[in-house]
Amino acid sequence: MIYADNAATTRLSEAALEGMLPYLREGFGNPSSLHGMGRAARRAVREARVAIAKAIGADADEIFFTSGGTESDNWAVKSVVEAKGGDGLNIVTSAIEHHAVLNACEAVARKGCEIRFLPVDSEGFIRLSQLPELMNQKTVLVSVMMANNEIGTIQDIQKIVKAAHAKGVLVHTDAVQAVGHIRFNVHDLGVDLLSASAHKFNGPKGIGFLYVKKGVVLPPLLNGGGQELGLRAGTENVAAIVGMSIALKEHLRQIARRSADVAELADLLRDGLRKLNPRIRFNGHENPAWRHPGIVSITIPGQSGEGLLHILDLKGIAVSTGAACNSRETVSSHVLKAIGLSDNLARSTIRISFGHENTEADVMGIVEALSKVV
Ligand code: PLP
Repeated sequence: MIYADNAATTRLSEAALEGMLPYLREGFGNPSSLHGMGRAARRAVREARVAIAKAIGADADEIFFTSGGTESDNWAVKSVVEAKGGDGLNIVTSAIEHHAVLNACEAVARKGCEIRFLPVDSEGFIRLSQLPELMNQKTVLVSVMMANNEIGTIQDIQKIVKAAHAKGVLVHTDAVQAVGHIRFNVHDLGVDLLSASAHKFNGPKGIGFLYVKKGVVLPPLLNGGGQELGLRAGTENVAAIVGMSIALKEHLRQIARRSADVAELADLLRDGLRKLNPRIRFNGHENPAWRHPGIVSITIPGQSGEGLLHILDLKGIAVSTGAACNSRETVSSHVLKAIGLSDNLARSTIRISFGHENTEADVMGIVEALSKVV
């Protein structure tokens, strides 16, 4: 089995699993309980919050646990509109966001908020020069993802923040594909809101967080008990929170080596495939500094991406067509279309995404399997 779909999800790290087990067994206390077991659970949640905050340069009370990237994105987009209130507002986002952001925008659009789209160039880099023109007095949020999940392009979030803040507009970034893989610090970036999801960095599924910069006031996502400073009520998923913090710490300890190794595998794949067929096109940014090390989007003219996925699947190789979350849809990817691919070329595309567990032998296996077809 060759698993090369790490942008869809990753294997739970052994250390994270080990760290989680005590909270699923004897340490099952409710963090809101006043007794010893409750206090132990509360301490575990507190320590995880501190560790996660430290990992991105935030303070602990700026980290709000959620069920993952989708929830964090929805919370960020919808609550900023709700907090500012009223019709006639607008949000600026990019044409290549994940559906968690795009569909959250669509939901607020149904309530009268206008959505304005920043176009991207052929490498998936947003046309920053158009941002100032897209914002006006009624703009309440700019939401641009840090690393794209289909083509891996990384945006210059710092510059986006500068342009938005110059007009007093808040910035949210969906950093789901970036956290644990690309080193950054929220203070240097200057973002107001940032979404993350543990299962993209070898943590458990169903847990993530939203970073909310101090001073940014959001209405509660869920009303109930006082958890998450009263903004997202509900008994905490203690084991998952602990697992997420362990997985993130583990990634960050080794981020330089892991991303260099993964980038090397991606380069090896590109070289191997170029030799097979010079017409193969690689989507995303040319400059390694502006692309996710492990995500390789490959367009093979004349082939069906879905067909290739099934051929590889039969050989025990797991890859994806475009975004995994959309892989049951027959429509071609909005990301690939936004960078200028025709419907046909978009449908001739697969995404191979490596993680730190992949090896050179995996790359050779993929090239060998594709050599029979392309
Ligand atoms: N945002 C991006 C960029 C993603 O890649 C994903 C998942 O694929 C999500 C959001 C959704 O995250 P989750 O699966 O944790 O809901």
